[in-house]
Amino acid sequence: MSGRSDEIATRLAETRARIEAACAAADRDPAEVTLVAVTKFFPAADVRVLADLGVTHVGENRHQEAEAKAAECADLGLTWHFIGGLQSNKAAAVAAYADVVESVDRAKLVGGLQRGADERSHAVDVLLQVSLDPPDAEGRSGADPDQLEALGAAVDDAPMLRLQGLMAVAPLGEDPAAAFERLAAIRRDFLDVHPAATRLSAGMSGDLEQAITAGATHVRVGSAVLGSRPRLK
Ligand SMILES: *Cc1c(COP(=O)(O)O)cnc(C)c1O
Repeated sequence: MSGRSDEIATRLAETRARIEAACAAADRDPAEVTLVAVTKFFPAADVRVLADLGVTHVGENRHQEAEAKAAECADLGLTWHFIGGLQSNKAAAVAAYADVVESVDRAKLVGGLQRGADERSHAVDVLLQVSLDPPDAEGRSGADPDQLEALGAAVDDAPMLRLQGLMAVAPLGEDPAAAFERLAAIRRDFLDVHPAATRLSAGMSGDLEQAITAGATHVRVGSAVLGSRPRLK
């Protein structure tokens, strides 16, 4: 194995051990929690290493990079999660390769996603991204909790989109445990209306334990698995 493969193998084992320990502490079955390895900024070669190590879910947050990497790694049979901010004019193109779109935060995206999924003849799983920030926070992304019902209804009306649950990011500068507790309450209300939408994508390298405690079914982990990202150009 190359040095890079060794590094990724070590980091992945550490991350899996963290997930297992968090599940044990929360009295949850580790089989309920899926690791989504966030490969943004890292090359397709790293995605191949991850696939060799048994990773089956990968996440990307920028459309062009994601599209190219998904094409380069098409032979690996991975499940591709789109987790980034989405422009409505890119939604159809994202649905052409993404198996899961986690960042649906407004109804305007639904038409494009439906069209892309339809053209590909492949249903796309959708998570609604909910904001845990205060309403006036800068750079806020995600829908307000009180918008989720209408947004869920819009996704339900799209025949090629499958509403699977919610996604959130803990706000900077707040205790993630407190933020994820709010998320768990939002999810309980959402499940009253959409009982089949049981997925909860929450938790990253720094807060996956708190997310698992709050019921996350998917953790999106980048730097803990792959190392620190090259700086944004
Ligand atoms: C980059 C990113 C992650 C992974 O972040 P790490 O801190 O590197 O684990 C998770 N979720 C989203 C939405 C991201 O953009």
